[in-house]
Amino acid sequence: MITSPKLAELVLSYDPNANIDLLRKAYMFSIQSHSLQKRASGSPFFYHPAEVAKLLTEFKLDVSAIITGLLHDVLEDTNVSLDELKEIFGSEIAFLVDGVTKLSRINYTSSKIHQAENFRKFLLATSKDIRVLLVKLMDRLHNIRTLNYISSIEKRKEIALETLEIYAPLAERIGMSLVKDEMEDAAFYNLHPTEYTFINRKLEQMKINDSEFITNTISELSRIFRDAGIDAEINGRGKKAYSIWKKMQKRNVNLEQINDIVAFRVIVKTVQQCYLSLGVIHTNFQIMPGKFKDYISIPKLNNYRSLHTTIIGPFSQRVEIQIRTEEMHRVADDGAAAHWSYKDSNVISDESMPKHYTLIKNLLTIIKNSNSPEDIIDNSKLGMFDNEVFCFTPLGDLIALPHGATVVDFAYEIHTNIGNTCIGGKINGKMVPIKTVLKNGDQVDIITSPYQHPETAWKKFVVTCKAMSCINKFIKSREKIEFQNLGLALTKYLFSKFNLEFSETVLDVKRFSCTTVQRFYYNLAKGNIPLHIVEMYVKNKSTDNITLPQEHVICVMNFTPGIAVHFAECCHPILGDKVISVLIPKKGLVVHVANCDTKELSAYSFVKVKWNNDDEVEVAFNAKLRIVIFNRSESFATVTNIISSSGANITNISVDHRSIDFFDLQVDIIINDPFHLGEIQAALRACGNVRSVHCL
Ligand code: MN
Repeated sequence: MITSPKLAELVLSYDPNANIDLLRKAYMFSIQSHSLQKRASGSPFFYHPAEVAKLLTEFKLDVSAIITGLLHDVLEDTNVSLDELKEIFGSEIAFLVDGVTKLSRINYTSSKIHQAENFRKFLLATSKDIRVLLVKLMDRLHNIRTLNYISSIEKRKEIALETLEIYAPLAERIGMSLVKDEMEDAAFYNLHPTEYTFINRKLEQMKINDSEFITNTISELSRIFRDAGIDAEINGRGKKAYSIWKKMQKRNVNLEQINDIVAFRVIVKTVQQCYLSLGVIHTNFQIMPGKFKDYISIPKLNNYRSLHTTIIGPFSQRVEIQIRTEEMHRVADDGAAAHWSYKDSNVISDESMPKHYTLIKNLLTIIKNSNSPEDIIDNSKLGMFDNEVFCFTPLGDLIALPHGATVVDFAYEIHTNIGNTCIGGKINGKMVPIKTVLKNGDQVDIITSPYQHPETAWKKFVVTCKAMSCINKFIKSREKIEFQNLGLALTKYLFSKFNLEFSETVLDVKRFSCTTVQRFYYNLAKGNIPLHIVEMYVKNKSTDNITLPQEHVICVMNFTPGIAVHFAECCHPILGDKVISVLIPKKGLVVHVANCDTKELSAYSFVKVKWNNDDEVEVAFNAKLRIVIFNRSESFATVTNIISSSGANITNISVDHRSIDFFDLQVDIIINDPFHLGEIQAALRACGNVRSVHCL
């Protein structure tokens, strides 16, 4: 186990200004807190955090990160509280330790492979600070190194799987290929011991992975480069069992068919020499067609740069050659940490920056590049997932959604039909409306109804492409039929207005340049054929001897809202409100509350509507009239008579003001349409008992 002075020495070796007093304090604090706890191996628990701290120094992390390594298990496994940590070590370290603790509490239990990527992102989003992730990675590295002490095979496999699917890819993503390799191999051994043993034994038999073959190849390659006058450092290593196995699985091939079991690295000074070296290799050896890759011109997402080529090597074995500069090599092995460790890296040319800041910035750049390059990163925060939100299904599946996603987006992410019939959701057990915006970690339970369908209004709050396209698709599929139905309803409405019995056969749709009656309906509802033209046409058909007992009124409940029939946003009619509507070209019918004062009502053709067939109170709307009558005995009766005989209902009359000559009346009435109101006003003005009439 590393001692406190030794740890201090390691940190001082790369950061002479580090707060060593605090480091010592953390060392002692961790020993005392874990006191008698033991690991599965039987050794004192403190060995583990001490080892994690030591691993972190290998990446030359700042002292806060090293201290976090020492303290990373105290919140979870001892009585130490977060406040206590804050008081003793300050808020930065408390924040980091808390972050690692939170990460450790998230369990990756699902074996579904598609979940893994979401889970990794979720961890990154939860990490908040890159150091939290690095401590967690070193914690895991040490745990997997000591996995054999855990007696339960189940538990071992669980940790191994999580390491393989979550932590190794995370290590790879930030460019720590050595950490990734070690994690993968240890996990592979624990998950598939038979395959692990088989591949390693086979490699031994093939003798291409043994040291003699490697040494001989290196000396032969060195000779060729010397002759070519290129100063190159050459090393070679065999592929790890896990990456061989992965290739066998992926390409469905056997071990012998894999080309690059052994890879040799040619490390040179400049990029130019890389390409020169490639020329040297290709001149001296037979190359395998289709195996050449230029990751210098086009780096991998994790910033990996190299030239790769596969050749038949000096001993007639297929080998892969990787050519890179020293700088590229450091990045390949240690990832972003390399930028921090080596001052000659041009990435940290800005000396004014605090060191740890530079490291974090570079790590972030790499993580950022490996995801969506357009994201903007802020300081040490893992901000690149600020544009994503991670939520859980009731079964614990993780769903990744863009920032601002709502219950509807979540529903569509699960299944198109769930989205199409979503009427609401429960977030963490609490009922919420469909447009509720989701937060990280929310557990979302979608509530559906077979009577629900997507509405145009949803487009205003959904953020995912899937939700948007499903809603559009639904609306498009319904659009034609909805407008046709509206056109039919409008035609019936016009027929009934002129007491004509409706019949499709009497419609001469060719007059309106329509080939079919369905086209006619569609064009009428869309406003392509103006309503008043059709009204004139129908009116001309009417004769006095045709009477129709029942008036046809359009029922808005027969239509899908937001397609051909819309509810006005100024007054938001709800079921039971008295409603009226106007037909707006291109848009369709817009339904308003009867007494809505929008100008829209006077600007377009008015159409009578009601909610549904059972709706007894069909079209109607409220109006208020201020009527000044002469103070005569018959005035009052005359006014009420005129109003009621016109077919309007009086719901309230009040006398606001009385004088010797006049009464001021306020009369609330229910009328059929605005024209009706005009008629009443005219009739009132015409009678001798009324002095003035105003609509309020
Ligand atoms: Mn730990």
